Amino acid sequence: MFQAILITKDDSGYQAGLQRLDESQLPAGDVLVRVSHSTLNYKDGLAITGKAPVVRQFPMVPGIDLVGQVEHSEHAGYQKGDWVLLNGWGVGEAHWGGLAQMARLKGEWLIPLPAGLTPQQAMSIGTAGYTAMLCVMALERHGLQPGDGEIAVTGAAGGVGSVAIAILAKLGYRVVAVTGRTEDAAYLQSLGAAEVLPRAQFSAPGKPLAKERWAGAVDVVGSHTLANLCATTRYGGVVTACGLAAGMDLPATVAPFILRGVTLAGIDSVMRPRADRIAAWDRLARDLDLDKLATISQELSLSQVIPLAAELLQGRIRGRIVVDVNR
Ligand code: NDP
Repeated sequence: MFQAILITKDDSGYQAGLQRLDESQLPAGDVLVRVSHSTLNYKDGLAITGKAPVVRQFPMVPGIDLVGQVEHSEHAGYQKGDWVLLNGWGVGEAHWGGLAQMARLKGEWLIPLPAGLTPQQAMSIGTAGYTAMLCVMALERHGLQPGDGEIAVTGAAGGVGSVAIAILAKLGYRVVAVTGRTEDAAYLQSLGAAEVLPRAQFSAPGKPLAKERWAGAVDVVGSHTLANLCATTRYGGVVTACGLAAGMDLPATVAPFILRGVTLAGIDSVMRPRADRIAAWDRLARDLDLDKLATISQELSLSQVIPLAAELLQGRIRGRIVVDVNR
């Protein structure tokens, strides 16, 4: 028997609760993992609260991230005792996920826990941090270098934002944090932000083109914020879009793209090919100041997760939440 958060949907409604489950109830897969840590990401918040139709079958164990040790493997790449890491692939949405003490998964979804990272550190980074690194790598792929100018990071005090600031600052970029929580300026500066701007400057409808400022941007917010970032990005700059914290819409014009050669780079972490994941995690182990993870993350037990899901969606959680599923 093991403990897990289970989401059910039936005549009595949509519910998430902590339950004891039997290993025989786990879904099919070729690797059985004894989970050590998981996380609470924005998408887990949507799944647990039912605020958006993230869960595609019921009952469902949420948790898009996990790290743990292989208990049993029928996959050639893994043996009992190996430490493994999982992010995405629809786990926690269509396949039982990491907010549990056991998980049965497809071996092809797993990567080895990167050398140099503890299980706790890997989950402090989690999908949010891995996505932040995918954004940074996209900026680099489009030729951006630290001397090119300022990088704006929106949703700065959240998970993706916090890790993006820490990575970019360590790489030598001048990072400008855009946040609804200017009272957390000291936190954002401790991660490496050179300047902190209120999100209200970006969230209202703006002009198709405005004064050029950004060499690049990491946006988790979407909607008018993303449109305004594109409109204020310098000639030839790059804006990475990975989130929708303010909305799915993009009320923009093509002007920044056709008149300033701005690139809008879409970032998906869920279905990202394995080689890209390994490259991103390798970079995280090297290019993130791991000491900053203690400032960015807080650790909870499985029983503390459910009440925090709604708070996370309201933007009231700072940084990252790590879940020690055995605490
Ligand atoms: P968090 O909840 O940790 O952070 C989101 C941050 O966005 C908040 O902390 C807040 O930052 C800001 N925010 C919240 N609501 C609003 C709003 N209405 N208007 C403007 N800003 C707002 O989430 P994550 O960092 O984990 O994820 C951020 C986004 O990225 C989510 O939309 C998530 O779904 C997406 N995502 C996408 C991935 C992909 O593969 N494409 C992978 C991971 C995440 P502040 O208080 O500083 O303003």
